[in-house]
Amino acid sequence: MKYISTRGQMEPIGFQDAVMTGLAPDGGLLLPEVLPRVAGKLEEWAQLSYQELVFEVMSLFATDIPPADLAELITDSYASFDAAEVAPSVEVGGFRILELFHGPTLAFKDVALQFLGNLFEYILEQRGGKLNILGATSGDTGSAAIHGVRGKPNINIFIMHPAGRTSPLQEKQMTSVLDPNVFNLAVEGTFDDCQHIMKTTFADVDFKTVHSLGSVNSVNWARVLAQTVYYFYAAFRAMEHTGARSVQFSVPTGNFGDILAGYLAQQMGLPISRLILATNENDILSRFFNSGIYGMAEVFPTISPSMDIQVASNFERYLYYKVGQDAEKLVTLMDGFTENGSLSVELNENGVVDDLFVAGRGDTASTLEIIKRYQDEYGYVLDPHTAVGVLVAEQFKSDTTPTICLATAHPAKFTQAIVDATGEAVHHPTLDALADVETRCDSIANDVDAVKQYLVNHI
Ligand SMILES: *Cc1c(COP(=O)(O)O)cnc(C)c1O
Repeated sequence: MKYISTRGQMEPIGFQDAVMTGLAPDGGLLLPEVLPRVAGKLEEWAQLSYQELVFEVMSLFATDIPPADLAELITDSYASFDAAEVAPSVEVGGFRILELFHGPTLAFKDVALQFLGNLFEYILEQRGGKLNILGATSGDTGSAAIHGVRGKPNINIFIMHPAGRTSPLQEKQMTSVLDPNVFNLAVEGTFDDCQHIMKTTFADVDFKTVHSLGSVNSVNWARVLAQTVYYFYAAFRAMEHTGARSVQFSVPTGNFGDILAGYLAQQMGLPISRLILATNENDILSRFFNSGIYGMAEVFPTISPSMDIQVASNFERYLYYKVGQDAEKLVTLMDGFTENGSLSVELNENGVVDDLFVAGRGDTASTLEIIKRYQDEYGYVLDPHTAVGVLVAEQFKSDTTPTICLATAHPAKFTQAIVDATGEAVHHPTLDALADVETRCDSIANDVDAVKQYLVNHI
């Protein structure tokens, strides 16, 4: 399998190169040249364990990794999960809640980042060399990435977070990792400042090459690929349980990475009748699917901070399919967006962007209300991100098709919102254990050169 760029200016490359490249040199995102069709395999796949299913799906895409090596990478990556099924579904209030928070940092990002960490290390062992990961985080990605690569001999990871602006627990999940290859930087600024420093550093191509900088954000193809698997797995369990022939998924969305994986699973032949896209007040994506207009707005801080995003980096991958895999058309749209902060596509004969998608948003008050209602009625506590997905799913519930709601984080990660909603905190032993642990973190000025100098000193 070869990978191409959405912007059409890159020679096709193999899977390992795609993983190491991250963003294509022409500024586009990588996609497989063709999406494999798997409809004929579904019956067989429905019998597999989670890890076996990961192997079958990935074998179609990671064709330059020998099968025995791939199998070992997968076994290692999911051994750190505390649920035997890795991604179990539970029935709550007429929905199937797909719990994706059983990894080491209690958010769905572990599903992909545990694998990506091992994959980086594997590729470096094959090819030689070192990788220095530079990332910026507002919370969940940083800790999942750190836990994915801690202790790996050929990798250093440098994660910038805005000093004092992540939740205390999220900060502890990062700074309590004391492995010598992990560097936490508290930047005297906002998340946008951190992201700006990261982008500016990557844009210095000489610096990037000399210091072998790499990226773990969700533009990396391996992350999307790892996420497609739980759509298959959860759909099989739901169909087995109810006898239905198709399912719908509700996905709380920020960067469009998670729901893109569902879209690709559907395109490959998984019978998904509908994808329910849910956003918080930062609703550029729900506005797009309802109006055809993708228009930027200010970022508004909410109780579901991992979805406080206005420009969704993975949206370009969807748009590429939407314009019929025409790179030229895509470039025209993206250039227009860069220039005007807005782009638009035509609505179809049903007056929507795409018959597969429905979309809605949840605001803070209704999100707190549904957390309380589910706690009172079902004794199940939704984290604020998951709650947004369930809230929107309630509008699109079906009598005949099971609805699977992705639970993207454990509620104990977002204690304050849960206390505001229900009056009581939720606990998780992993987080409770962080109370008095030793931490390590360096403060740094909000300055690109200061961060570059730090990298040079510590690589
Ligand atoms: C990252 C994250 C999301 C959003 O996922 P995207 O792939 O950016 O759409 C939702 N919920 C939680 C808890 C997250 O950490």
